[in-house]
Amino acid sequence: MAWHSGSPDTLPIASLKGVGAQTLARLQRLGLTTVQDLLFHLPFRYEDRTRILPLGSVKPGEPAQVEGQIELVEVLPKGRRALIVRIADGTGALHLRFFHYTAAQQGQFLRGRRLRCYGEVREGYFGPEITHPDYQFVAEGEAGRAEPHLTPVYPLTEGVHQKTLRRLIAQALDQSGAERLTDWLPEGLSPYPQLKLWQALRLLHRPPAGSSEASPELSAARERLAFEELLAHQLSLSRFRQRVRVQAAPALRGDPETLRRFVEHLPFALTGAQRRVIAEIEADLALARPMMRLVQGDVGSGKTVVAAAAALTALASGHQVAIMAPTELLAEQHCRSFRQWLDPLGVTIVLLSGRLKGEQRKSALEAVAQGRAGVAIGTHALFQERVVFHRLGLVIIDEQHRFGVHQRLALREKGSRGGIYPHQLIMTATPIPRTLAMLGYADLDLSLLDERPPGRIPVNTVVIPTARRADVVARIGDWVAKGRQVYWVCTLIEESELLQCQAAEKSARLLAEALPAVRVGLIHGRQKPADKEAVMQSFKAGAIDLLVATTVIEVGMDVPNASLMVIENAERLGLAQLHQLRGRVGRGPGEAHCVLLYQPPLSAAARERLAILRESDDGFVIAEKDLAIRGPGELLGTRQTGQIQFRIADLARDRALLEAVRQAAEALLRDYPERVEPLIRRWVGDAAHYAEA
Ligand code: ADP
Ligand code: MG
Repeated sequence: MAWHSGSPDTLPIASLKGVGAQTLARLQRLGLTTVQDLLFHLPFRYEDRTRILPLGSVKPGEPAQVEGQIELVEVLPKGRRALIVRIADGTGALHLRFFHYTAAQQGQFLRGRRLRCYGEVREGYFGPEITHPDYQFVAEGEAGRAEPHLTPVYPLTEGVHQKTLRRLIAQALDQSGAERLTDWLPEGLSPYPQLKLWQALRLLHRPPAGSSEASPELSAARERLAFEELLAHQLSLSRFRQRVRVQAAPALRGDPETLRRFVEHLPFALTGAQRRVIAEIEADLALARPMMRLVQGDVGSGKTVVAAAAALTALASGHQVAIMAPTELLAEQHCRSFRQWLDPLGVTIVLLSGRLKGEQRKSALEAVAQGRAGVAIGTHALFQERVVFHRLGLVIIDEQHRFGVHQRLALREKGSRGGIYPHQLIMTATPIPRTLAMLGYADLDLSLLDERPPGRIPVNTVVIPTARRADVVARIGDWVAKGRQVYWVCTLIEESELLQCQAAEKSARLLAEALPAVRVGLIHGRQKPADKEAVMQSFKAGAIDLLVATTVIEVGMDVPNASLMVIENAERLGLAQLHQLRGRVGRGPGEAHCVLLYQPPLSAAARERLAILRESDDGFVIAEKDLAIRGPGELLGTRQTGQIQFRIADLARDRALLEAVRQAAEALLRDYPERVEPLIRRWVGDAAHYAEA
């Protein structure tokens, strides 16, 4: 029954029943203000609560819904204080463990009461248990009554309970006239004209009874919406690109003589690819419209020197250059390279690091503001703080997969002055398969740095179980004796940086004990920037033989003499990250090795990842394989591929749609321009704001 006359497109959430002011405010923070926003807030996975499993049949490692009577309630004071509740159903028993609970909660757990719980079962001290289950008390009459359909799980619910979202979305579906939601996709362009927009939404929010995640109707609904989402993103980026095309930028012409001197003084000859890409950049910079170019080159392909050449061109026509690196370490490294290359040409370079304080900072900022500094290097703080440029002509962003698409667009805005925009050069090692490049980077021109500097032999990669760690350690001793350097990388599943740093500290200690002749250094995210820099400097200078590190060294570090890398617990990392890490070795002439240590047993997926790395060290091949092996596991899933966060599309799974999406975008822009804005608003939402420039 539709009791609202307004269209759900614009109907405020406040018009639904039982939404408090606090919930409204929180929803708004998630970007949800209208009923339409709620309807497009899609589940990213489902829980199967359609069955209630006998307690005797639950398996550790799997989520389960169970029901039983409370037999025992006690607080365990030993170890970490916890409330334990045991339930039983005649087929078996299960323990519920609560580390956080209130007295009121505890008081409700009375022996004999019936509980229904959902959560992941693990093997505990007393047998199977669930930590912090989702639970409810059920009356005897309701025993064994499971949900009729899969339960949606919604993303981004900080402060807003799943149950609240489910309730509101159910209202939005049933009572606000969801069927009147405007379908902006012209029928001829929809690949699924038989499936209406609101029907697809309803299918995903409330899968039909008996359907599983893999059922064809859910797949069709998902694809119908993924198509539309991809289309909205494509439209947003194409429109942005069109606008950029008519904006003004300074036409920057390099000085061939300076460039020649720069190239001559390099300790190596540029590769053909480097020369080609530099020429592509120069051609862009010479135009009076902003360059938006992405240089994609695998790790070690030599992007930094390309950036320096681009900077020289801007400097030659009296403009400044800003270089943004994802970490302080990398900013410092760039600063050293740039000084080495450009100092002889009379260029002043400042490092705007977070470490600069007081007078030093003030004078660096002044040098930038007055134009005495030609190049300013820093992290994103470069743009967050009030750094004023005298005449900024070029912004270079390194390792851009670390920055989101919207951060990048925002950055353009900040660099603009009086309607003149700086040129933008973006460098990434993330290989972007062509199909994806079309979408995620639709606003950028692409230059490929597809040639490695000469003399590089592929990194020899071996996969070894931790049981043979001692052999690996011995090999490090031999390697160091030959005058080469080594990285030892520690990983942890936990997000906790602290734990990761502790693990690295421990490894460093053990390695130093095992290898008394080896000079061991340690670098991790919790050290002070000055300490990190000092360690990195000594490693570069050869005063440290073995650098134990957390994944902080993942991007950009360049120490050509380091030619052996050991990655502990390599099975925990994704392909792209492993490839990036491994890219720290094999950067100089001579052989290089990478040892992937793993803790058995390996899951099938981890085994496959490690095998791919062993067989290839071509970032492009690895990215393609990564896409191929990811995906089919779950039906839904917001994933960060490249740089866009999708609600429902997954570039790995939906890549087959991309060509149709591109065509539909063209047709829409040509034949239905008035539908472009609402589609972008619906799917890209606030993020599209930057594209309004
Ligand atoms: P990335 O593309 O990963 O950023 P870098 O710019 O750090 O790579 O370069 C990797 C290493 O290769 C550096 O030590 C750099 O000095 C060196 N290098 C760059 N270009 C060449 C070249 N044409 N010939 C030989 N060495 C090169
Ligand atoms: Mg680099």
